[in-house]
Amino acid sequence: MLPNQTSVLVAGGGPAGFMAAITAAEAGVKGVLILEATAEPLHKVLISGGGRCNVTHACWEPRVLVGHYPRGSKALLGPFSRFATADTVAWFAARGLSLVEEADGRLFPSSHRSSSVVAALRRLASAAGVNLQSTQALQTAEARDGGFRLGLRGGGVLMADRLVLATGSHPSGHRLARALGHTIVPPVPSLFSLSLDAPSLRQLAGVTMDPVGLRLVPPSDQHALPCRGDGAGELVQRGAVLITHWGLSGPATLRLTAFAARRLRQWGYHATLEVDWTGGLSQVELESHFREARHQQARRQLGSWRPWSALSRRLWWSLLEGHGVAQEQRWADLSGPIQRQLIQSLRASRYPVVGRGPFGEEFVTAGGVPLAELQSTTFESRSQRGLYFAGEVLDVDGVTGGFNFQHCWTSGWLVGGALAADVRQY
Ligand SMILES: Cc1cc2nc3c(=O)[nH]c(=O)nc-3n(C[C@H](O)[C@H](O)[C@H](O)COP(=O)(O)OP(=O)(O)OC[C@H]3O[C@@H](n4cnc5c(N)ncnc54)[C@H](O)[C@@H]3O)c2cc1C
Repeated sequence: MLPNQTSVLVAGGGPAGFMAAITAAEAGVKGVLILEATAEPLHKVLISGGGRCNVTHACWEPRVLVGHYPRGSKALLGPFSRFATADTVAWFAARGLSLVEEADGRLFPSSHRSSSVVAALRRLASAAGVNLQSTQALQTAEARDGGFRLGLRGGGVLMADRLVLATGSHPSGHRLARALGHTIVPPVPSLFSLSLDAPSLRQLAGVTMDPVGLRLVPPSDQHALPCRGDGAGELVQRGAVLITHWGLSGPATLRLTAFAARRLRQWGYHATLEVDWTGGLSQVELESHFREARHQQARRQLGSWRPWSALSRRLWWSLLEGHGVAQEQRWADLSGPIQRQLIQSLRASRYPVVGRGPFGEEFVTAGGVPLAELQSTTFESRSQRGLYFAGEVLDVDGVTGGFNFQHCWTSGWLVGGALAADVRQY
């Protein structure tokens, strides 16, 4: 049943909204109502992490943690000092959901099913007395008499003492925030793979390499001055990449596009990507690898012996072909000029970036309500008392690995706690 009056209305039944609602209700706040526009609350949690839900990341130190947020960054130090990754692990464990860590630091539910996280959040909300109403969208919000007059899609109206906007990246949340006096940093996609005009790479689809160095070079009519909203060091990344049918993906590519999200948008998703396939080996080190191979493997064919073992065999063959060198040629016969060209390609191959990856696989949106417009300890609006924000509606986004959910848990928990304190004083 939808009441006419409620103590707390949370708009958005995603992870941030659930965390805020559960925390407030568990702390004793009565009359917490979640309105979810769709028929499927927590839908993104269900499809996240390839169906396994990467809940958070084993990055325990807030000062290190903030480095994984291109938007948010140091402004998140205060919030993370109150509730960070270890608190998330403990919060879920205390409520019957244990998380397990993978070798790369990502934390998943021990069932390895995102449905366990959805079920836990729904069970906790219900146990705490949270009223969840699906297929109910908040359409208008107006501050009135120390509370909020809220208009629903379909015409219903209800009053709430407190309002939490946890609407993710949906434009309706941005519209509501604007109507209540907030500015919106324009949304742009973050975390996407790159489409490259690189026929030589297409035949290598499926090859992974780690580490690889990536550097974005601006289009010739652009410059590399900092762009408002992008993080530091945004044009250079190093780590694992995956060669795809359309270009490049994998953690280092996603990290690069997250940190350069605004700049890439400004450039119309056109630039040059310089790839260091060696992951940072110096010219001297590479020359020494080649010298060793020429001397110790002199009679072997180039195609059957790579200059160092971590180099992908298929990539090496492709580079040989690109330089017109037969795989059957012996190492002893490799000429100086060709060796120099191969080393140059290994250290700095350049590919035109022609767009974003084709599957719309960007996982998050950069942009939203600026953190500067909120109290850093409560995420309450500085300008509108009783109005709170949590999750992706804010101008905060992280790289892949569980960091985006971590921001939802942190902001949701802070909002829930602040609501409880606020209602107690009221
Ligand atoms: C395919 C995919 C995989 C992902 N995997 C991971 C991962 O493994 N780890 C990770 O950390 N992050 C992951 N992410 C990112 C993560 O899902 C988001 O950062 C997170 O869901 C944001 O949570 P939120 O609660 O702020 O918003 P959302 O999850 O978007 O929830 C907002 C909710 O509000 C509702 N809503 C919107 N407007 C209104 C309105 N006016 N009235 C009522 N309801 C409204 C929406 O329907 C939605 O249910 C993934 C994202 C995608 C798309």
